[in-house]
Amino acid sequence: MASVKLTDVKKIYDNKVTAVHDFNLEIADKEFVVFVGPSGCGKSTTLRMIAGLEDISEGTLEIDGEVVNDLQPKDRNIAMVFQNYALYPHMTVYDNIAFSLRLKKMPEDEIYERVTNAAQILGITEYLTRKPRALSGGQRQRVAIGRAMVRNAKVFLMDEPLSNLDAKLRNQMRAEIILLRQKLDTTFIYVTHDQTEAMTLGDRIVIMKDGFIEQVGTPQEVFDTP
Ligand code: ADP
Ligand code: ADP
Repeated sequence: MASVKLTDVKKIYDNKVTAVHDFNLEIADKEFVVFVGPSGCGKSTTLRMIAGLEDISEGTLEIDGEVVNDLQPKDRNIAMVFQNYALYPHMTVYDNIAFSLRLKKMPEDEIYERVTNAAQILGITEYLTRKPRALSGGQRQRVAIGRAMVRNAKVFLMDEPLSNLDAKLRNQMRAEIILLRQKLDTTFIYVTHDQTEAMTLGDRIVIMKDGFIEQVGTPQEVFDTP
């Protein structure tokens, strides 16, 4: 179970830029919601506030009915995948995926179980002993997804995860994210500036503009307007 609710959420950066104005949205458990809009419209800021990587200036954020404004990222039951993968170059793929579990002092046999299971789902088993630099962009992004997967989080946040990939790979990974969603059965909040990505992935699309929500609806509702 993981619903996410934002009530009158606002972000004012130190330089007085208001990046997000009165954001109101309720995301249901296991829903796949996509934030879409041009660069600078506040998508990433909103996602980072949900992750706890950015303070919320005003308003409340609830996960499963609990106000989490003041919780550390690690206490929010979320996992995040970034655009630039953020892998540790000196560690093997296995150790990269295992990293946050080791910080938690999880027993190695359970870590092994989770890492190998995630690797199998993502089709990267044969790369577990390699270093990230020996992988293609798509493989690296799978490792980044694996690292988020093993946390068994209830909410999966993805910030432009495919935008560093070429068009062909992007199509392939998009299909894989649809499969991943079926396998993980978690709530997804996904940020992109790509309409096709938003249409194919989202149950619901949130169109943002200049820090405001412009429109919310199913892909048909928001993109098929005559
Ligand atoms: P998007 O993800 O839609 O591209 P962002 O959330 O990154 O948009 O940015 C929204 C607005 O906030 C932009 O005007 C951007 O310049 C500004 N902004 C983003 N991060 C910071 C920051 N750390 N400090 C000040 N302003 C920022
Ligand atoms: P702890 O052992 O204290 O619970 P974690 O193992 O959950 O810490 O994670 C350590 C740090 O790394 C936290 O700040 C956590 O938010 C961050 N972190 C690691 N991987 C991810 C991820 N995929 N998504 C979000 N945060 C992550």
